Amino acid sequence: MAQRLLVIEDSKPIATVIKQIGQSLNYEVVLATTLAQVEEILSVDSDFFAATVDYALPDALDGEAIACVLSHGIPSVVMTGKMDDVTRQKILAQPVIDYIPKENSQAFLYLKRVLHWQQTNSKNAILVVDDSSSARNHIVELLKRRNFTVYTANNGVQALEKLKQHKKIKMVITDLEMPQMDGIELTNEIRKTHSREILAVIGISGASNGIHSARFIKNGADDFLRKPFCPEEFYCRITQNIESLNNIAQIQHAANTDYLTELFNRRAFFFNSQQRIAEYTKRNIHYCLAVLDIDFFKKVNDNYGHDAGDQVLKVLALYMRKHFSAGLTARLGGEEFAILLHGLDTDQLYNKLDDFRRDISVSTLPAGDTHISITISIGVVFNSREVLSKQMNEADNALYLAKDNGRNQVVIFGSDEY
Ligand code: GH3
Ligand code: MG
Ligand code: MG
Ligand code: MG
Repeated sequence: MAQRLLVIEDSKPIATVIKQIGQSLNYEVVLATTLAQVEEILSVDSDFFAATVDYALPDALDGEAIACVLSHGIPSVVMTGKMDDVTRQKILAQPVIDYIPKENSQAFLYLKRVLHWQQTNSKNAILVVDDSSSARNHIVELLKRRNFTVYTANNGVQALEKLKQHKKIKMVITDLEMPQMDGIELTNEIRKTHSREILAVIGISGASNGIHSARFIKNGADDFLRKPFCPEEFYCRITQNIESLNNIAQIQHAANTDYLTELFNRRAFFFNSQQRIAEYTKRNIHYCLAVLDIDFFKKVNDNYGHDAGDQVLKVLALYMRKHFSAGLTARLGGEEFAILLHGLDTDQLYNKLDDFRRDISVSTLPAGDTHISITISIGVVFNSREVLSKQMNEADNALYLAKDNGRNQVVIFGSDEY
C-alpha cells in the first residue's frame, strides 16, 4: 500500500507543486488548506507516513498546525515564508524533520530530497557512540526524526562489538572523550576492517581546541562536528556522507554487473571466483568451472529479432540463478556465460550442469508474444590447479569440443569422451 503524505498548504499553486512531488515519490497525497481541516482529517485517520506543514494558515497564523500534526506522531517538514531567527528557533524547538524557507524553486527540490530520504533512510543504520547518555540521546533523537535505523554504544569497545553484530551499519558517529577506548582509537580500529567506501565515520568533540578535527580526519574519519552544533549542520553532514556512500555503492554495482541480465560481468566473475577457488583449494573442496554458450544464437536473432534475442539472454540468466543459487554465475559477454560450482562430488557437479542443459533444451523461453526454444553447450573443468585464466581456457577448449560434437551437451576438459 502506498505511504500517505499529508500536505498542509493554503496556497493552491504551492499545494499543487508539493502534491506532484509527493506523487512522483509514490506517496498517496491528502491535501488540507486550514488547521480546522487538518483536525478533521486526523480525527478520522492519522496514519500518515509524513506531512508537509505550511507555517502560516488562515486559521493558524503562527505555526499552530505544527504542534497539531506532531501530536499525532507524524514526522513533519515545515514550509515557511518567514526566515527570521525567532521563527526558526520556534520551529526547531519542536521535533520536526526539517524546515524549508519557500524562497525559490530550490526549496521544492530540497523538499523532494527530504521526502525521498524519509522513505530510504531506514535502510541506512547508524551507530552512535558517546559515554554521555544525554549527548547520545540528543543525536539518536535527531536521527530518528529522519527515520534512520539507530544503534548505540557507550564507548569504543562496545562500538566495535555492535559493528560486528549489525552488518547494516553504514555510519559511526563518535564522541572523542570516552572511557576504555576513545573516539580516535575507535576510528583507528574501525579502519583496520572497514574502508571509507563502505563505512563513514564522523567524529564529535566539545573541546574548543581545533586540533581534534585534524586528529579525527588523520585517523580515518570522514567528517567532524564541534559541539554544540545546530540541527541543520548536523543533518547536512549526515546526509552528505550517506549520499556519498550510496553513490559509491551504485558505481560499484554498475561496474560489477552485466546491464542486460544483472548477473556478474566478466570482471566481477574473475575477482570473485579467484577468491572462492583459493578457499576451495585450501579446504580441499570439489569445484568446477564451466563456460556455457547458446547454440546457433545468431539464428534466434535472425528469426525473432534482436529484442527477442535479448529477452532470451535475460530468461536464461534467470534459469541460471535458479539452478545455481549456491554457485557463482556471470555473463562473460554476448551469449556466453560462466558458472562456478562447489561442494558436491565430481559426478554430482557434472549432473547439475547436465540437468541444467537438459532443462533448457526442453523448455520454451518466453520472449515478447512468442516462446523460443534453444539449446546450450557447456565446457567444464574440475578441480584444476591452474591459474584462473588458464582454467577458463581449459573450459573453453571443452566448449569448442561440445560444439564440434554436435552441440547441446556438456564436455569435460581432459576427458576421453571427445
Ligand atoms: P554457435 O552454436 O557456434 O555458438 O553459434 P552462434 O550463432 O550462437 O554463434 P556466433 O558466435 O556465430 O553468433 C553469436 C551471436 O550472438 C551473434 C550476435 O549477434 C549474438 N549476440 C551477441 N550478443 C548479443 C546480445 O547482447 N543480444 C542479442 N540479441 N544478440 C547477441
Ligand atoms: Mg564524552
Ligand atoms: Mg553461440
Ligand atoms: Mg559465442
